[in-house]
Amino acid sequence: MKNKSYNNLVILSIVLLTFSFIFFIIIKENRLKEKESFFLKNITISNDSININNLTPLQKEVWDKFQQIPKSEYNSRYEEIAENNRVLLNLRSKENVGAYILKQVLSSGNLSPKAELFILNKLRVLDATSGNIVNSIKLTMEYLSLAEELNSEPDIVRAKIALSSIFNSLGGHEISIKILKDIDIENKNFLDISRTTISLYLYLAENFGFLNNTKEGFKYLNKITPLLENECGNFKINVLILKNLLEARLYIISDNKEEALKCLNTANPLLDNLEKVFFTDLENLRLLTMENYYLKYEPSKFSPDALKTFIKTSNYYGDITFLKIAFKLLFKYYYEANNFEEYTKLTKDYDQYLNRINIANNKVFSMYLIENLEHERFAKENEKLYKNITLLIVAMVLILGAVYKRMVYLDKKSKIDTLTTIGNRLAFKEDLENLKANDEYSMLLFDIDNFKKINDTYGHEFGDEVLSTIGKILKTIENKEISIYRVGGEEFTILFTHFNENFAMESCEYIRKSVENIHWKHPITVTISGGFSKATKNTYAECDKRLYKAKGSGKNMIIYQDIDEGDVK
Ligand code: GH3
Ligand code: MG
Ligand code: MG
Repeated sequence: MKNKSYNNLVILSIVLLTFSFIFFIIIKENRLKEKESFFLKNITISNDSININNLTPLQKEVWDKFQQIPKSEYNSRYEEIAENNRVLLNLRSKENVGAYILKQVLSSGNLSPKAELFILNKLRVLDATSGNIVNSIKLTMEYLSLAEELNSEPDIVRAKIALSSIFNSLGGHEISIKILKDIDIENKNFLDISRTTISLYLYLAENFGFLNNTKEGFKYLNKITPLLENECGNFKINVLILKNLLEARLYIISDNKEEALKCLNTANPLLDNLEKVFFTDLENLRLLTMENYYLKYEPSKFSPDALKTFIKTSNYYGDITFLKIAFKLLFKYYYEANNFEEYTKLTKDYDQYLNRINIANNKVFSMYLIENLEHERFAKENEKLYKNITLLIVAMVLILGAVYKRMVYLDKKSKIDTLTTIGNRLAFKEDLENLKANDEYSMLLFDIDNFKKINDTYGHEFGDEVLSTIGKILKTIENKEISIYRVGGEEFTILFTHFNENFAMESCEYIRKSVENIHWKHPITVTISGGFSKATKNTYAECDKRLYKAKGSGKNMIIYQDIDEGDVK
């Protein structure tokens, strides 16, 4: 199965390349036919039309004001139009009137490039609140492209920061960092540079935090302190909140409870009394950081319900990184509480989450290809940046695709064992069948020693706990080359593909010792016995034979060869 999944990825890449080639041809043709921007015509805002009857009074007021401006005056009054829209900025509504208005203005064809750039930036910000990541990236790229054409440095920097935050929210922290560092802000000079620099350092620190790199995280947060001396008012308060929440996260990672608490106690009252929002998602960052703190230091205050609500109400396209953190905290909580019923339920939601990421990534990826070919970006000065972006997107699509495929594969055809969350007998049989096509695999079959006695002494429930714990520990070593299955009551198999036999044997010993070293709540040591074999005509039977020998030779061992071959371990 692992082999097949790998092959599928290769096929997927070929298909994608073929498609991109076809896109390339089609777009080239289009370019010859019409000079007008292919891309701008295709901007799709979350709502292509709005229902005038559904508007709130505030939205209606903005809409009416806009109606009074004749189309011919859009170019002279664009700033006024944008200013009138400002009141809608933090409104999360299905009827995105502000975005709709700006789109009308943009597509009127009456705007000078300068006005277009201005409106595009406003539209980008307005539409970002709809959480539609595909739209965000489309608009941001268009904004960047126009800023480059007009050679407007502050807009180029702003667009790149916006682009980096999109990748941050998609989980592409390395590329996000690359984009931010490529800006080279220390060698730039324009009006309002101080605030731009502060945001840039905050985003760098956030990205490094998500990568668990506390050293770099603290480094960029410290760079903010001197810059803040010249700031005041709401912007400064926003920065202080974000800075303290990010610092708290870094302190939790480096296990400094006191400092983490100090930061949280600074951020909380500021956020409670915040008047004007400069950075989106402060509330969500607070929720996740607080829950992270509770889970680690004050478990009784940890609220799985708060996180579940967050997951339910989140926009799957917009909050990918935050969602991942929420899932991680919940998985850890249920695991530590031995609540595997909830744990299994959560895997179902997680599957749906991965599915949506996959769709979002595919959309972003294909859109990115079209966009780049249209603008012939590869020939432009930003070659390096965009190459990096392409690499990241390809990597994301492939990695997430692989993880997702595994989930779908195991789940859809009921190939997952609910107690241990690893593959079941059916998954094993199918994967083995697929592997038989090539001989490059080996197998370990093992069985828990004296399991009946464990059940009899400590109860069936504890027996189940032993099974699920072993399953979940084994799951952590699953990867492209190692697949693990529960094939019977307390029998497990492991398939090693593309594996050097010696390395596979070493892994078996590692597994045996790992099980032996698990610390249980009852005073026992649980051991396993196993039979290992490289691929033969009937590999499973070989393993079974050797497992039987191991049981008869004192248990807690793995046998790698037949007795008549000599050299019994
Ligand atoms: P040996 O060392 O020879 O393997 O001895 P053993 O006691 O482990 O013997 P055997 O493999 O025959 O016993 C397996 C026992 O595992 C029998 C069954 O009651 C128990 N079992 C099977 N499935 C489950 C399960 O899902 N949960 C629990 N708690 N017990 C199970
Ligand atoms: Mg057995
Ligand atoms: Mg047994």
